[in-house]
Amino acid sequence: MSEKMSKQLLSQRKNGYDLITAEERLEMNAYGEEYKVFLSRGCTERECVEETIRMAEERGFRPLVRGEKLVPGDKVYRTEGNKAIILAIIGSESLEKGAVICGAHIDNPRLDLKPNPLYEDDGEVARFKTHYYGGIRKYQWVSIPLALHGVICKKDGTIIRVSIGDEPGDPQLTIPDLLPHLADKQAKEPLWQAIKAEDLNIIVGSEPYPDTEETDRIKLQVMAILNEKYGITEDDFNSAELCAVPAFRPTDIGLDRSMIGAFGHDDRVCSFASLKALFDAEKSLKRTGICILTDKEEIGSYGVTGMDSNYFDRFLEDLCRSEGADYNTCIEHSFCLSCDVTAAYDENYKYAYEKRNAGRWNGGVGICKYTGARGKSGASDATAEVMAYARRVLDEAGVLWHVCELGKADEGGGGTIAHYMARRGIATLDAGTPLLAMHAPFEVCTKLDCYMTYRAAKAFYLD
Ligand code: MN
Ligand code: MN
Repeated sequence: MSEKMSKQLLSQRKNGYDLITAEERLEMNAYGEEYKVFLSRGCTERECVEETIRMAEERGFRPLVRGEKLVPGDKVYRTEGNKAIILAIIGSESLEKGAVICGAHIDNPRLDLKPNPLYEDDGEVARFKTHYYGGIRKYQWVSIPLALHGVICKKDGTIIRVSIGDEPGDPQLTIPDLLPHLADKQAKEPLWQAIKAEDLNIIVGSEPYPDTEETDRIKLQVMAILNEKYGITEDDFNSAELCAVPAFRPTDIGLDRSMIGAFGHDDRVCSFASLKALFDAEKSLKRTGICILTDKEEIGSYGVTGMDSNYFDRFLEDLCRSEGADYNTCIEHSFCLSCDVTAAYDENYKYAYEKRNAGRWNGGVGICKYTGARGKSGASDATAEVMAYARRVLDEAGVLWHVCELGKADEGGGGTIAHYMARRGIATLDAGTPLLAMHAPFEVCTKLDCYMTYRAAKAFYLD
């Protein structure tokens, strides 16, 4: 009797593998394969935008034209500064019933080259100086293979794409760490100070320019190679965005292949989930579905391509105008899933987590009522009513999910784009895939949780 009572009254925690059907398992594995392809095609926000446009146009999306009339089923998109993109499928209901929005970010922590990156000191080597982007643990970025991705914009308007280090046979770059034999002094430093930002200097060449009359011959030789390949001079670095990213291919992790290891799950795992869910919801959308893949989340969402910018408002206003819907009414009835990764409980660092409210491996998508740090600071804190709505939608769609916080309240915290969406007056809820080693050069998540993030996004689109 007592067992039955506990089943009725107490919440049941189960491993997702005990709950999914054989059919779901097949779909989950296929989803994982598709996601790895997306990961390998977009290392930076620009590359993710390009890949998203390619996928969208293949499915009949076209750029939104301001002032055009739209009808149910129309599929449109707009990019912002080549670094953010919004896609929409017009639903059968008026936008005054509200839009269903899934928002994720496509920027991720990395090492950006400084505007004057190239130098030669006295080590018989040329290096690039970097300025790290986002919350990295600097010691993790030394002695790993790095690739270089980005663009160089020339004064005449030409944009040169750079992608070195990811194709088989490509050269790669690295930041050599100090050898342990000589690291006594460094080893006594606190972890966060042992490697300093100004030590994150990437080696890019060691062969001197042949003319012995020249100075800085190693730097010159690197510049000569870049000039030959891209037609650039040193000044062109001033108008470039070049990012050093880990040169790791996305790969299955575990002897059972149940997990995926990759650079930049945060937040491409939720970006891909939001995007694919919108594509797959197309035929049955009632409310208009919108997918935002934004930039700058990792550095506070500021800037014209971040969620603090009004590029989303302009897009939604244009959508409303295209069908004569009232913008404010649309906003008031809209819902936004702020789709961003959360932390999975890591038994190796038990002290950092509050296990009863931690993200769970193979527990499905993590739903976060609030994020923030130290007393929910910076969180949008979804209302209990919104949480109840989410429970209903997810349960009805058979999505595996659990509620979670980032970690112990006093240990730290983090934010998402949720409060920027909430500031617009849109009911917003945080949800995402639990990760291990978030912001590390190589992050890990489970295939089941990836798949359930997609299922969650789809459930909201279809509600
Ligand atoms: Mn994130
Ligand atoms: Mn992040």
